[in-house]
Amino acid sequence: MIIKRNDLKRLVEDLIGQGKRVIAPIMRMGLVEYGEIGSFDDITWDYINPRNSFKEFLFPQTEAIARYRIGKKDVELEGVIPELRETIVLGSRPCDAASTASLRSVFTWGAEEDPSRFRDDFYLMREGVTTVMTIACLKGDEDCFCTTVGLTPESPEGSDILLKETVRGNFAVTPVTERGKAFVEEWRDYITDEREDLKEIEYPEVLEGIDTGKIGARLSDVDVFDDPVWQEVARKCIGCGACTFSCPTCHCFDIVDEATGYEGERRKNWDACQFEYFTLHASGHNPRDTQFKRWRNRFLCKFHIYPTKFTSTGCVGCGRCIRVCPVALDIREVMEWLSR
Ligand code: SF4
Ligand code: SF4
Repeated sequence: MIIKRNDLKRLVEDLIGQGKRVIAPIMRMGLVEYGEIGSFDDITWDYINPRNSFKEFLFPQTEAIARYRIGKKDVELEGVIPELRETIVLGSRPCDAASTASLRSVFTWGAEEDPSRFRDDFYLMREGVTTVMTIACLKGDEDCFCTTVGLTPESPEGSDILLKETVRGNFAVTPVTERGKAFVEEWRDYITDEREDLKEIEYPEVLEGIDTGKIGARLSDVDVFDDPVWQEVARKCIGCGACTFSCPTCHCFDIVDEATGYEGERRKNWDACQFEYFTLHASGHNPRDTQFKRWRNRFLCKFHIYPTKFTSTGCVGCGRCIRVCPVALDIREVMEWLSR
């Protein structure tokens, strides 16, 4: 099936006209990022991968989860139901789409086997109204390494619909999930049964010397915890948290009360294991009191804890942590050391 570019434009304008939220790559202050568009013409088509991942539209940087008022005798507590708008993410990349499995793993941890377990309804409600329309990458940049972590520039995982560019500048449409099939059915008038040749897709090279299986095995060995190499490899890290905030699979948050003396909101805010106070206990003890311990945690989380507890991966090879790091720390070098 093919959707011609003009028909994609009509589709997007119709979705916006119906009050739906369309998220797509846009240019802002010289950088491409995922953002809400007001028109098809806002979309930037010349991009490798946006600066941010689209996780912030499923798991906002900050949100109220309860409100309260303290009276003379009691406390009034009021739950918050998030404002939901049907959302279409157009132009997601396959690595970002694949990362939603990792977010879902955490926000539904154990609930599939035992429905009494906690489920984060804030995340799940947003995910339930979101359709992910991924566009396969034609090429990566020097920091992309999806093929080294088991994905490809045309992986369908996590997408509802996968689009691939054709040589005529249109898109081949493949519905992936039931949601994707229903979406294609709903907008079938804009989609034809024609066939067109696809543009060639250039796969990033699989990095030699990196083996995620060996990384996981090495990290499960308790001796690695005290390996002095951690201090060496993390020496430059300034604990800014940019790698974790920009990572599509990182999901940590903190819950704080923002209040006056008598009333306030309980808010869920993004947090990062790279911050000094992330694990600070009320007693004053901090089990990760130096930066290398916080850095080590990032690797344990992504390559040992995630694959052991869940079926999803903690790294989709998007390369953002490499692009944003102000001191040029490169996750691939540590992956290579651990594989070795
Ligand atoms: S660890 Fe780095 S490369 Fe891997 S998914 Fe996160 S930001 Fe992307
Ligand atoms: S972006 Fe770089 S400097 Fe900042 S916390 Fe991550 S590894 Fe450390």
